Amino acid sequence: MDITHNAQNIAPFFKMLQWILHVITSSIKLFMPLLPILRFPDPRLKTVASPVEKVDDSIRRLARDMAETMYEAPGIGLAATQVDVHKRVIVIDASETRDQLLVLINPELLERSGAQVCEEGCLSVPGIYDKVERSERVVVRYLDPAGKTQTIDANGVLAVCLQHEIEHLDGKVFVEHLSLLKQMRIKAKLAKQARITA
Ligand SMILES: [Zn+2]
Repeated sequence: MDITHNAQNIAPFFKMLQWILHVITSSIKLFMPLLPILRFPDPRLKTVASPVEKVDDSIRRLARDMAETMYEAPGIGLAATQVDVHKRVIVIDASETRDQLLVLINPELLERSGAQVCEEGCLSVPGIYDKVERSERVVVRYLDPAGKTQTIDANGVLAVCLQHEIEHLDGKVFVEHLSLLKQMRIKAKLAKQARITA
């Protein structure tokens, strides 16, 4: 039996293998555990999250599910509070290439300086964008998924994102930076949206 003959015999087998792999990967995608996101003004968004005592597999699984939920939404940040888990865990990917995932456990703002005004949105407040003033630069200490202490020095969009997500862990949503009149309008708009989709 020569090599060419052999390759011809193997070809249909590879095609089938490819098809099986395709079916498996699409089913995994289909059954990806996307977490439901709480919507403002759900009172559960006001819960102050507790620190993670031990970075174990359950925390790593939570972070993985949160990251998948954030990428799928799509969003650039998600706090555990938003998926009704009141532990101090956030995931962020503010990169344009969507391949710079940051998982921050027990994040703490050590330093802040400067000021910037950025248009913000939130997966818990769909379709609403408004300007919020935040610090231009922040230094945040946190634990990574391996339980190691890390520090990040960020500015620009990443700094905004860090401040926005850490606020979620303290029970605050970005629209609370806006005037009461704007907040009332947003609540009315979201209530209308909820009625339409219900
Ligand atoms: Zn948010």
